[in-house]
Amino acid sequence: MHENLGTLLMFWDYDTQWGADRSRSNGGPKTWGHLDFSNTERLLDLLAAHNLTACFAVVGAAALPGVRPYHDPKQIKRIFDSGHEIASHSFKHEWLPGLEGSALIETVRLSKDALEQCIGAPVTCFVPPYNQPFDYARRGSFSLSERYQAGRKHTTVSVLCRTLYETGYRFCRVAYRGWPLRAAEAIIGRRLDRPLPLEKIEGIWCARLNAPCGFGRDTQSMLRACSDSSNIVTVYGHPHSITLQGAQNVRLLEPFLEQVNHLRTSNRIQVSRPEAIVRQVRQ
Ligand SMILES: [Zn+2]
Repeated sequence: MHENLGTLLMFWDYDTQWGADRSRSNGGPKTWGHLDFSNTERLLDLLAAHNLTACFAVVGAAALPGVRPYHDPKQIKRIFDSGHEIASHSFKHEWLPGLEGSALIETVRLSKDALEQCIGAPVTCFVPPYNQPFDYARRGSFSLSERYQAGRKHTTVSVLCRTLYETGYRFCRVAYRGWPLRAAEAIIGRRLDRPLPLEKIEGIWCARLNAPCGFGRDTQSMLRACSDSSNIVTVYGHPHSITLQGAQNVRLLEPFLEQVNHLRTSNRIQVSRPEAIVRQVRQ
C-alpha cells in the first residue's frame, strides 16, 4: 500500500431478512431480505468484472445453517472465497444504542463466532447496523434521539469500540458527525464531506463514513476527492438495493465501479479492505 495515495474502502451491508424484519424506516418490517442473496450473485460478478474486492458486513445469524431469506452460509463462504473480506454486522441486526452491556457483548461475540465458523478465518471488522451509535461526546457528537430512546445506559461509540476490542475485533466503520459539522450542513443544506484519516477509538481502528449511502453524485465527487488526497473515502451500499430505485441502483453502481477501476489502474487511488489496513498500521 502507498502512503501517499488516497484509499477507497467499499462496504456492502448484507442485512438479509434479519435486517428487513427490524427495519426502522417508515412502514415497519419489510420483505426485501431475499434480494440480498439473489443480488449478491450479480454483485460478485460485477466486482470481479472490475477486478475489485470489497468488505461485506454480514449479519452473523445468516451464517448459521438454514434457508433463505434468513440463512445462506454457502453464499457467505463463496463471498469470502472470491477474495472479499467478511465483517460482522451484529448477530441479528440489533439497534445497538439500546442494548445493555451483556446483550451488546452477546451480539458482537455470537456474530463473530458464527461468521468465523462459516468462513474458517478471523473476522476483525465490525459495521454497526443503522450506522449507530452516533453518540460520541468526545468529538462533539451528541444524539438526543439515541439518549431519549435508549435511556441512560445507552451504548455510545466509545462503549461499542471498547466492547469490540475486548471481543477481539480490530476495526470499525463509524458514522458520528460532530455538532459544528452538522450545524454547517444544516445551514447550507448538503453534506460537507472530505477524505479522512484513520482514527483510533478505545483500541479500535475506525474509518468514518464520508459519503452518503450509494453511488450518486455526492459519492462520485468523494471518489474524485479521494484521488486528490492521501486519506480515506468510505462508501457503502446494500446488495438488496442494487435492483431498487435510488442511489444504490446498478445503473449508478456500474459506472462508479468503472471509475474506481480506472483511477486504481492509473495509480491515482488504492482500493483496500479493513483487514489490510490493520495489517499495514501494525507494521
Ligand atoms: Zn444493515
